[in-house]
Amino acid sequence: MEKCIIIGAGAAGCFAALACAEKYPNAKIEILEKTQQPLAKVRISGGGRCNVTHACFDPEALCNHYPRGNKELLGPFHRFGPTDTIEWFKKRGVELKMERDGRMFPITDRSETIINCFLDEIKKRGIELKLGEKIDCIPDADAVILATGSSRQGYELAKEAGHTIVTPVPSLFSFNVPSSPLLHLSGVAAPDATVWLEGGSRKERGPVLITHWGFSGPPILKLSAWEARFLQEKEYRATCLIEWGEELPKRLRRAKPESRFQIEGKTTYKKEFVTCGGIELKEVNFKTMESRIRPGLFFAGEILNIDGVTGGFNFQNAWTTGWIAGNSV
Ligand SMILES: Cc1cc2nc3c(=O)[nH]c(=O)nc-3n(C[C@H](O)[C@H](O)[C@H](O)COP(=O)(O)OP(=O)(O)OC[C@H]3O[C@@H](n4cnc5c(N)ncnc54)[C@H](O)[C@@H]3O)c2cc1C
Repeated sequence: MEKCIIIGAGAAGCFAALACAEKYPNAKIEILEKTQQPLAKVRISGGGRCNVTHACFDPEALCNHYPRGNKELLGPFHRFGPTDTIEWFKKRGVELKMERDGRMFPITDRSETIINCFLDEIKKRGIELKLGEKIDCIPDADAVILATGSSRQGYELAKEAGHTIVTPVPSLFSFNVPSSPLLHLSGVAAPDATVWLEGGSRKERGPVLITHWGFSGPPILKLSAWEARFLQEKEYRATCLIEWGEELPKRLRRAKPESRFQIEGKTTYKKEFVTCGGIELKEVNFKTMESRIRPGLFFAGEILNIDGVTGGFNFQNAWTTGWIAGNSV
């Protein structure tokens, strides 16, 4: 392998480039990025702190956090999982810490620590990072890694190579319930509620937060991810059922909340949102991340029809698939 081109300088593209440079120290490796800002999403991620991964070390348990990609990621997580992520950063001088809920952040609490680590490594390894390079046809090289996230141009490139794109729809959002009689209780949470959708296929349990537009909190965001396609098909109009659980705060208990609420629209979660949809997973060999349609073309990150719930799982997908692609070219 003499020349590898990576399209997209996001989390997956940079990680893939570094894995490739480590394996092939003499290869010419280029990252082509359309904007002037590499790793822009890493910068804003986790509210500026970058939730790098999650302390979930069993590959099977880890897969349960991915509404799309759960079967396909099992093998890859055995090869490069959160333990490897922690080690990878540690080896490069970046310590991660775990919060009570399992989310892992750099001890500096600054996403810039992660960005600087990548940019230093890219420089050290002689990888050429070309900014302002918007790619609209697959370039000529021994291997090309497509890591363009949820960008439409990336999907077009994959389509030109013969791939199917599963229609992208948003994931990770809270529910708008304008008719809710609880809106005046905005800020109050039911600590152990169970939520599901009428006609849906999943129940989620945890603290449900009442907002001034409806409901949010971890189980609502998880439900939005697992039911992303169902809700999109229903144009974000559905019935949400809630079992409120024990130990309700007084104000909520007094309101005697009912169970059925009409969802009418969604509000995107500002700290982390992702796209459900992307490259059809059957068309990719997950042992190498190579296209089953066009040899020499590899994929990594959110361009694939893979997404996780909040908590560091989306970056873990970027590291895992990036690492495998970079090692397989
Ligand atoms: C606000 C926010 C906060 C988040 N916080 C977290 C978090 O804390 N933890 C977590 O796990 N996940 C988080 N996520 C999700 C996570 O950021 C993404 O899953 C992850 O960045 C995907 O990485 P990627 O490299 O696949 O894509 P991206 O990071 O989107 O990178 C793709 C790159 O490709 C470039 N590109 C696109 N098209 C072209 C083209 N034609 N030519 C050249 N370049 C191109 C883009 O400019 C971009 O730089 C967050 C997302 C958002 C929006």
